[in-house]
Amino acid sequence: MRTAADPFDVLIVGAGPAGGLAAQRIARKGYEVAVIEEHREIGEPIQCGGLVTPRVFDYVTCKETILGKIHGAEIYSPKGHRLTIDGHETEAVVVDRAMFDRAILTEAVRAGAHTFLGTQAQGARHTDGGVEVTVDRDGHKEVFRGKILIGCDGVRSNVAKWFHILRPKKILPGFEVELAGVRGDPGFVKLFVGNDIAPGFFGWVIPSGDTARAGLCVREGNAYAYLQKMLKHPAVEKYTKGAQPILYIVGGIPIGFPRRTYADNVMVVGDAACQAKATSGGGIFTSLHCADLAAQTALEALDKGDYSARMMHRYHRAWTKSIGKELRKDLAIHESFERLTDAQFEELFGIFDDPDVLRLIEDTADIDFPSKIGWTLIRKDPRILKYVGKALRTMIAQNVGI
Ligand SMILES: Cc1cc2nc3c(=O)[nH]c(=O)nc-3n(C[C@H](O)[C@H](O)[C@H](O)COP(=O)(O)OP(=O)(O)OC[C@H]3O[C@@H](n4cnc5c(N)ncnc54)[C@H](O)[C@@H]3O)c2cc1C
Repeated sequence: MRTAADPFDVLIVGAGPAGGLAAQRIARKGYEVAVIEEHREIGEPIQCGGLVTPRVFDYVTCKETILGKIHGAEIYSPKGHRLTIDGHETEAVVVDRAMFDRAILTEAVRAGAHTFLGTQAQGARHTDGGVEVTVDRDGHKEVFRGKILIGCDGVRSNVAKWFHILRPKKILPGFEVELAGVRGDPGFVKLFVGNDIAPGFFGWVIPSGDTARAGLCVREGNAYAYLQKMLKHPAVEKYTKGAQPILYIVGGIPIGFPRRTYADNVMVVGDAACQAKATSGGGIFTSLHCADLAAQTALEALDKGDYSARMMHRYHRAWTKSIGKELRKDLAIHESFERLTDAQFEELFGIFDDPDVLRLIEDTADIDFPSKIGWTLIRKDPRILKYVGKALRTMIAQNVGI
């Protein structure tokens, strides 16, 4: 069994979806990979609603973690005006997030990765053309050495901090409760917007088999207090009456667009690199996509023996060219959305509550690429432009010529 004293090719801090997938991709090519995770149990504590599109299974095979299927959404305005979007087919699935993370890491272990649980990375630095990470493992200090370090250490990434890579512009506080004993699984998520419900973001209820996950993120303040209020919304109460909490989830959504996600010998991936969608907070698909690209760059670097920032930049260029365009648009949409007043939300619901518009949303909406529907709606009804902020207007002018 390898120990911290053995040199590794790649050190990965964090065993979430990004860390697990990067480890699997690199280890299966025969390189020595160490996955350093501070918790003793993979996937815990859960910080997620578990809503993903079937697209994630292009990256991972763990379909056994699916708890339920979602084919539409009910969206509620501040005054309770409801829009129903029914895609009729499976638009998304809900996974058991702890099992999902464990399944990804299990694949990494099968590919040859070494896991170090209960091991907290406490510092990292460049050394002799490589990197070393100092950890606390069961109260003992140990030092891991590698050629490349991949920071997959989530929203409050220390790896990013240690290598002066970036900090998110802001982190939205989120709170979620899983409720057992809900009334059936409707196959629809419920979404709630409004400054009294979830200022600066939105609230959700995600059915997950025989439970439901009710949560929200807010611009600032006490997310728990807002959630207690949302649980009393008639549409939530009707579905969750008599249900009881079995799990509380606390977390944060990173908001921002990183200008640099690499340094000499180092890459940061997933929430550590602010790669979640600012529109929805969804970050599993984007983390997997970017982890795959980071692994490709790591393999190229190992092959060539070149761990320079110039080599690591290939990863940054690859993800900004692929998913980065969408993430930029999502950030601009978020910045417009977070400024809306309740009166403006009601006006927008008035515009959207039209069978043609709803059909267009049903046909075009894609959770992983939310800007597609935004662009399509603006083309269909330019009245929406009134609600759009400066950054988004500039992008729209460049992208759709309005
Ligand atoms: C309330 C909430 C609900 C969400 N719901 C959804 C959803 O429904 N769908 C979706 O797609 N996304 C959702 N997300 C976002 C999603 O959870 C993240 O985008 C995703 O987990 C990012 O994966 P990751 O691998 O980058 O980081 P993480 O999953 O956060 O993994 C980071 C890992 O690093 C470890 N770590 C951190 N620091 C250290 C250290 N110093 N040493 C060792 N280990 C360390 C952590 O313990 C953790 O295991 C939600 C987020 C929140 C807050």
